[in-house]
Order: sequence, then structure tokens, then C-alpha cells
Amino acid sequence: MVDIQSPPQMTPWLVAGRTLFLTIHLLGVLLFAYIVAMRLVPLVRAQRDFRFDHPLARLERVLKFWLGQWKHPRYKFAGTLHIFIFAGFILLAIRAFSVLIVGVSYNFVMPGLAGRTGAAYDIVTDYAATIVFLCMVIAVIRRLVFKPARYAVPAKFGKAHTADAIFLLSLIAILMVADSLFAAAKAATQSHAGHSVETLAAFSLPWMLQKALASTSLPALGKFYFAGYLVHEITFYFLLCYRPFGIQFHVETSLFNIYFAKLDREILKPVRYGVSDEHLDQVKSFGVKTFEDFTWKHMLDFYSCADCGRCSDNCPANAVGRPLSPRFITIKARDYSFHHYPVFGHASNGTPLIGSKESGSIYSADEIWSCTTCGACEEECPLLVEYIDKIVDLRRGMVDDGNVPQSLQKPLKALESRGNPYGKMEKKKADWANAKDFQQICPVKILGKSNGADTLYFVDSITSYDDRMQSIGRATAKILNHVGENFGILGAVERDSGHEVRRFGEETLFMALRDHNVEAIKASGARRIVTADPHAYNALKHDYKDMPPVEHISQVIAREVKAGKINFNPIENENSVYAYHDPCYLGRHNQIYDDPRDVLDAIPGLKRVEMTRSRDRSFCCGGGGLMLFYEPKEDQRMGVKRVQMAAEAGANVMVTACPFCMVNIEDAIKVAGLEGKMTAIDLAELVDQQIARECPGAKEESALESKEYVVASSSTQ
Ligand code: SF4
Ligand code: SF4
Repeated sequence: MVDIQSPPQMTPWLVAGRTLFLTIHLLGVLLFAYIVAMRLVPLVRAQRDFRFDHPLARLERVLKFWLGQWKHPRYKFAGTLHIFIFAGFILLAIRAFSVLIVGVSYNFVMPGLAGRTGAAYDIVTDYAATIVFLCMVIAVIRRLVFKPARYAVPAKFGKAHTADAIFLLSLIAILMVADSLFAAAKAATQSHAGHSVETLAAFSLPWMLQKALASTSLPALGKFYFAGYLVHEITFYFLLCYRPFGIQFHVETSLFNIYFAKLDREILKPVRYGVSDEHLDQVKSFGVKTFEDFTWKHMLDFYSCADCGRCSDNCPANAVGRPLSPRFITIKARDYSFHHYPVFGHASNGTPLIGSKESGSIYSADEIWSCTTCGACEEECPLLVEYIDKIVDLRRGMVDDGNVPQSLQKPLKALESRGNPYGKMEKKKADWANAKDFQQICPVKILGKSNGADTLYFVDSITSYDDRMQSIGRATAKILNHVGENFGILGAVERDSGHEVRRFGEETLFMALRDHNVEAIKASGARRIVTADPHAYNALKHDYKDMPPVEHISQVIAREVKAGKINFNPIENENSVYAYHDPCYLGRHNQIYDDPRDVLDAIPGLKRVEMTRSRDRSFCCGGGGLMLFYEPKEDQRMGVKRVQMAAEAGANVMVTACPFCMVNIEDAIKVAGLEGKMTAIDLAELVDQQIARECPGAKEESALESKEYVVASSSTQ
């Protein structure tokens, strides 16, 4: 430029511009490198985690979740805002880099951006800077005026993060203004001097600033030009070095966090990566007890959280006032890491993570036991932060120390001695199927060496022993019988699947249950497994190894309906409106959303409504398995909230496909005062009730008989 000096030529404060800006670059880059290196210290000391496999699958995730911002639109307004900001940042990255180099070498042009391409890129980035600036203004207004509830920080979790968020948003806005001022002052000077003017995008921020500077004198323009450049430089490096101290660190870490995200989320993390079950006895301590027991990836999660609050906004434990909010599982761990691994100073570690605040611990036992492992937090997180593995690992640590809630000790002992949490006799496991009258209409084989079948119906503890849930077992058996399935059960040999035991952190007990069942299943010779319990389904499919193919009964029914093997009688009660509740371990954990709905929609005359929170946003009923034996402090039951959601949707019949959901929902209907106004039914029960059987009147007969068996079998216990 002829009429004002370029940044390298300027001599502010008696220092040549080139020297000044080179110094800023070097200091900025070195400081940033040092800070990041210090942030990596705990990751180096962390536990192993195998995340280097399947590079193409990981790259695909980066394209989808990072570049494609896949999860952001789940929150329409904030998501769209974030997409604009992210796109702006991506577009502006090269421009920012070029501007930095211009301070040292004025004639620098980014390769590929000379001539028309460069001019077009400048136009695009003028708009990008404007959009990012506007987004910052909107975000600040949202934070200050509209104050979305999910950003709030309850007093028990510390101070509000608003000031930090506003500070960072303002810095980005300043960066955009400085960048635009630099371009505007340059264009205004060119215009002033009668040179050809670099085109600025009409109505963009640089364009508007250029218009505002139109009548400014050349010396003043020179000052604006220099100020724009200097502020851009300083803000850029300040932001770069400040971000690793707070939530904005995700700008640097999110790409890596998504690349290294768990590919097989449905499979629970092993106790120690790289240690097989056979060698677990050599592991000194199970689970996470101190910060360094987390894996490096879990620590990366802590750095990558954007504090958006979506996880907690969807967490049922948080919604009912349990002492758990997943967002703060992360935030507290990050604060712990920053405090114990400071950028300047010595690292200190070893404090137990669970315990009293006074002793420096960050979590309470109740907080960790409050999780139902429903997966809503993970489903929602745009940065793929993992929670279930961490929570289970923290529980493993507590179990290892003998720190198990009182109410859980009895069911855990019963599981150890009897193979079920109720402490019932093994020989009574098949009572639900053995009632004489039931055997006459639906013979259920007990599989053994001389009594084989193609299909094993894995019943699991609750359906085997709970009087009410036995009805689900009988309905399932009758459906299998109806479609001509050659099936049987393991009977007394079957033990609890161990699904909840594992999620409660009792890995050794889980392994014993699993190994026993694996042997029994293999000995049965069955070529496929069917279950009506999503928890058993998840365990058999993901926690067990080398099993025959496993299906949930809803999948079997949907297939047989399509094949024409199951036909339905119409619903007789015209006033019934059905809402399907997605069980977490069928829906979110295994993506079985459509089969149960297809089955319901195949029943003539069935009116079905969707709850607002359905499918992958389904709201947990309160947790299955051992959650039935543990009652955390809460303001309201999750089940009550769920039945209220169904009522709001206009339903008076809740259908689910899980015996644990059934316990919680039926209980919640009573607690919510909806008795007489709402009922609950399992999908298998409804199908059994509505199946058009060859013999007229068989439906009514079977329904009546079902009730009698409940009485008959319960009398045997
Ligand atoms: S798994 Fe469910 S209950 Fe547990 S923290 Fe996540 S959302 Fe909350
Ligand atoms: S963990 Fe994910 S969803 Fe939760 S606050 Fe952090 S970024 Fe948001």
C-alpha cells in the first residue's frame, strides 16, 4: 500500500512492526504449545484406552459429528447458531492465518488464493466475519436476557459460568470487528488515494466499517489500520492461550474427541483395557477411585465439554431432582484436573474422587448411584462425551472398596448364592410355565440334553419370579407357540443375565453369572435366543460373547406380522388411546424403535399417539434391575413424570416392552393418581390379547386363563 504503511513497515513505540509482530507470533505460539503440553500431563498418566483402530470409521464420525455438526439441530435455535459460528470459523481459519503472516511479510498471499479465487474468498469471509459477529451478539443477548435454564448452575455445583461465557463471546466479537476494521481501513485508504479498491462484500461488517470511515483523514485511517491489525493479533493469541483454561478448550479438542469417540458404545468398557477376564485377578484395584484411574480418552472428554447443558437437560435423574447432573460430572472433573495439574506449578494428585467436599473429593456416592445408565446424556451430546463407562467405572471403584448402598447388599448376596436378586429358589424359576392348565394350551419345554429346541426363550429373573411379570413370560411363550416356534427355556439352570449387576459395578459377580449362563446356553444346543426383557437382550447381545443370534420378542412379532403369521382382532374399546414408551435398553441402546410401533400400528382400530419425548429422546421410567432395590433421594419419581407425559400426549394406555418399565409405570400410575384413568400393558401381553387365533373365543379364554395362572403360580412360592 502506498499511502499508509503496512504492518511490518510501521514503527510503533520505536519498534519495527515486523519485529513486534514476529515477537507476538513467537510468544503466542510458544505459550500455547506450553499450555497444551501441560494440559496433556494428566492424559499421559491416565489409564490406557484403545482408540486407534478403524481410522476410516473414525474419520466418518469426524465428518458427520464435527464437520457436519450432526447433533446440533436437535436444539433448533442454539444448534443453528452454533452451526453458523462453526462454519464461520472454518471459513475464516485461512483468512486469520493469512492476516497473521501479513504482519511479518506484507505481500504474503495464501497459496491458491491469488487473483479471482482470493477475491471470491475475501467476499465469502467478509460475510462469515459478519455472521460470526452477529451470532456472538445474539448469544450474549440469549445468555443475559433470555437465560436458558440449561445454562444455569445450581448452587450445589458451584458458581454460574455466565461471566466466563460472555467474556469469551465478547473476545470473539472483538476479533471479528478487528479483522473487519483492518480490511475496511485498507479499502478506505485505497479509495481515498484514488487507487483501485479491494471489493468488500456489500452490507458486510467490513463494508459497513469502510462506509463509516469514508470521510476519515489518511493519518487517522493509518491509525485505524494499525489498531485493527494489533487488536486482531493480540485478541487472536489471547484467545488461543486462554481457551485451554475453560470451556472454550473444546475448540481445540473437539475434533480429537470425536475422532477417538467410542465406536461400539453399546459395549461396556472392560475393567482395564488390555487385561483379559482371565487376568483380572492381577489388577490391583478395580474401577476409578482417583483422577488418574480415568482413561486418557475420558480425560479428553472433560476437556472437550462445551458446557452446553444438553446432557443434563435430558437426564431423567437430573429432571427428578436426584443428586446427579451429568454436565457437572464433567465440569467438576475438569476443574479438578485444572486445579491438580496446573499450567504453572506442580501437579498434585491421589485425592479420592468420591467422598466429602471437605476432603477434596468431587463426587458423592449418591450422585454416582443415581444414574440409570439410560444413555440420554450420551445420545444428546454433540461432542460425543461418554458418561456410562465413567459412571460404571466409578461404581466399580466403590464396589471394590466395599462401599455399596445398604439396600443393594441383600440382592447382590442373593444373586451370588441363588442367581437372582430376590433370593428365590432356582427350582421355582420355571413355575410360571409349569402351571398345569397353561402347559395344556402352551407347552414350554425345559431344555436339556434329551430335550432340545431351535430357539431358547431367555426369561431372566424378574419375569420368572415376579407374579405380575410372569404374565409377560406366558404371553411371550404363547406368541412363540402361535408362530410355530420350536422353543424352550433353561428353567432352573438359567441365572440372572447379570446386566444390572455389571452396570452396578460388580464385575466379578457379573462374570460368574455370565459364565454360568454361557455354558447352559451352549449346552442347550439352541441356535437362536429370544427374550422379552431388553436388559437380558442387551446383556446377551453385547456383554456375552459367542452367543447364537439374539432377538427381542418385538422383533420376532414384527417379522411374523409382516409374514402374515400373526393377524389381529380389532381393538374393542374405542376410547383407548395408546402411547408406546421406548425402554432405554431396547431403543437408545439398541435402536429398536420401529418394530414395536409397527406391531401396534398393525392392530386394527388401535389409536396411537407419540409422547414428545420418544424414540432416542425417550425418558427413562426409573431404571431397571437393581434400581428396583435402590431409591436415591429425589423430588419426584421418574415413572410419575413419564406417565404424566403420556397423559399430556392424550394417551390412556401405556405400552412398553420391558418388565422393568412395567413395574415402574404401573407403580407410577398409582402414585400419580391416574388409577382408573390410565393402564399399562406390555407389548407381548397386548399382542397375545389381540392375536386372531383360529379357534373363535380363544382370545378371551387365554386372557382369562392368564389371570388364573398368576394366582396359581404365585401360590406355589
Ligand atoms: S445415563 Fe441417563 S441417568 Fe445416567 S447420567 Fe446419563 S442421562 Fe442421566
Ligand atoms: S457433556 Fe456434551 S451435552 Fe453435556 S454439557 Fe458437555 S458438551 Fe454439552
